[in-house]
Amino acid sequence: MGGVTRSASTAASSRPAGSAGPGSATTSRAVIDLDALAHNARVLADAAGVPWMAVVKADAYGHGLGPVARTCLRAGASWLGVAQLAEALHLREMLDAAGVARPSPDDGPAPEHPRLLCWLAPVLAPERAAAPGSPLRRALNADLDLSVSTTDQLAALAAASAARRAEDPGAAGARIHLKVDTGMSRAGAVEADLPALAVAARAAQEVGDVEVIGLWSHLSRADEPDSGSTEEHLARFRAAETVVRNAGLTPRVRHLAATGGLLWHPASRLDLVRAGIGLYGLSPDPAVATAAELGLRPVMRLEAPLTQVKRVPAGRAVSYGGTWMTPTDRWLGLIPLGYADGLPRAAASAGPVAVGGRRTHVVGKVCMDQVVIDLGPADGSDGAPAAAGDIAVLWGDPTAPGADPATATAQEWAEVCGTIGYEIVTRLGARVPRVCLGAGHEEER
Ligand SMILES: *Cc1c(COP(=O)(O)O)cnc(C)c1O
Repeated sequence: MGGVTRSASTAASSRPAGSAGPGSATTSRAVIDLDALAHNARVLADAAGVPWMAVVKADAYGHGLGPVARTCLRAGASWLGVAQLAEALHLREMLDAAGVARPSPDDGPAPEHPRLLCWLAPVLAPERAAAPGSPLRRALNADLDLSVSTTDQLAALAAASAARRAEDPGAAGARIHLKVDTGMSRAGAVEADLPALAVAARAAQEVGDVEVIGLWSHLSRADEPDSGSTEEHLARFRAAETVVRNAGLTPRVRHLAATGGLLWHPASRLDLVRAGIGLYGLSPDPAVATAAELGLRPVMRLEAPLTQVKRVPAGRAVSYGGTWMTPTDRWLGLIPLGYADGLPRAAASAGPVAVGGRRTHVVGKVCMDQVVIDLGPADGSDGAPAAAGDIAVLWGDPTAPGADPATATAQEWAEVCGTIGYEIVTRLGARVPRVCLGAGHEEER
């Protein structure tokens, strides 16, 4: 299931999970440890103490949507969240195909019939929204919950819903979550605009076109526990709730916290938390607590077999622009991954790589499809320290059973590249096969 996700059998390996020895892969690949994912889900769910949404936008942060979504449902997620409508429609198709039931209007969400929230549905003119086959009609047919920040969005959805109900009087109204801006100034209604939105939502609910399920917002500085920002967000959220209730609405699902809020601001957990990065085994902010300190295990291991190992004389320039020079006679290795696969160019002469239990790094610039790594001095007559076909691990979990202990984490790559762990895993290119290990993929064990 899932576009770029290859089943274990197409990238077969007879080696044990976590093995990074020669021959464990014939192409570059991202190994996705579904057991680590399930473990992280349990850690976060236990901390949250309330129902949780698995945030699986952007192909599950680069990990592969289908297996991640199904593992999270098995681990107890009752909601799945994505940003774009196309992602949500794709997710619903996959869940339908996997036999996962849709929610019925009467039951609350549960892992057996999860709700899907999509927060970036397009804004259309009402007549376009109402047309058969319009994106919003498709959203409603897919039983999505949709976020609404403005009266224009509401009008479009209400029009789509009214047109649908005209054809099928039994159809329920659009399930919406009113989004308020509690201090991030991204999506959501600000204080001045919320009363009109609430009144319009109430009117649309009265005629059955929508049902206001949720009230929600997003924290902008949850990783700065002492800044006071989250308390301000919460105060604005409470004020918004009063406005909405005064308009006669009773949103049952109030949600504000992503991983950072869930971990570091208990008061923000409300009725539902939306967990993203923590599921994938990365900390929202290692300056507050590292993934290891949080008990989270990195889910993705990016590895590739060396395509060439060679001895290069001292003083040779390496890669485009010759920005790195061999300081001595040198052993160099070639990895078939480049910026087209998501390696940041900022990793030039820095990105950490583990080969055969030793830590080394990228030398010279990152090319589109390849990078060169240093394998050490070639003094004396010793043989090559590695061979073509040996596995180079770019990032993963150094503490996983069987892992190369020299493995760097995606977080270390982020630090070297001046970015955040989120970006390192999410930008992994579509052409890197995702190969799943663990729950439901026992054939790889
Ligand atoms: C991405 C996202 C999340 C998940 O955030 P994490 O920090 O990855 O847990 C939650 N809510 C919204 C609205 C998001 O866009």
